[in-house]
Amino acid sequence: MQPCELCGKNPAAHTADVEGSTMEVCKGCASFGKIIEQPKVVEKKVKVAAPEQGIVGDFSQLLKQARESKDMTQLDFSKFVAVKESMIHQFETGHLSPSLEQAAKLEKKLGITLVETIEPTKISLASGKEKDLTIGDILELGK
Ligand SMILES: [Zn+2]
Repeated sequence: MQPCELCGKNPAAHTADVEGSTMEVCKGCASFGKIIEQPKVVEKKVKVAAPEQGIVGDFSQLLKQARESKDMTQLDFSKFVAVKESMIHQFETGHLSPSLEQAAKLEKKLGITLVETIEPTKISLASGKEKDLTIGDILELGK
C-alpha cells in the first residue's frame, strides 16, 4: 500500500481530487479534497418515506357525534370550533375533509382523533453503483 501523498504517514485509501490534482490520500486527508474513486463498495440505500398524516375515514361521523353529544346545532357548533357553518355541514356530510390544521384544532376542542398517521412504506432504491476499475484507471493509479 502506497503512503498518503498528502501527509505521507497513513496508507492511501482514496483517490481524491485535491485542488485539481489527483492524489492518493489516506482517510483523514480525503476530506481535504473530493474523493474520486471509492473502494469498490456496493451501496444500497433504503429510502424511508416520512410518515404522512391524513384525516381519518370516519371524520364526518366523529364530528357529528361530537356535536350531538354537546347538544349543539351546526351553527352553535361552528361558533364553538370557530369554523364556518357551511364547512361544518360539508364536513358532516363528508363532502369536504378538514385540512390538517383544521383537524388539529377540532381535535383539541372536541377531544376526538381526526388525524391518523399513515405508515410509511419502504422504498428500496437500487442506486448503488458498482464501478470496476478500467485499464485507464489502473494506469492512472500507477502514476
Ligand atoms: Zn494523509
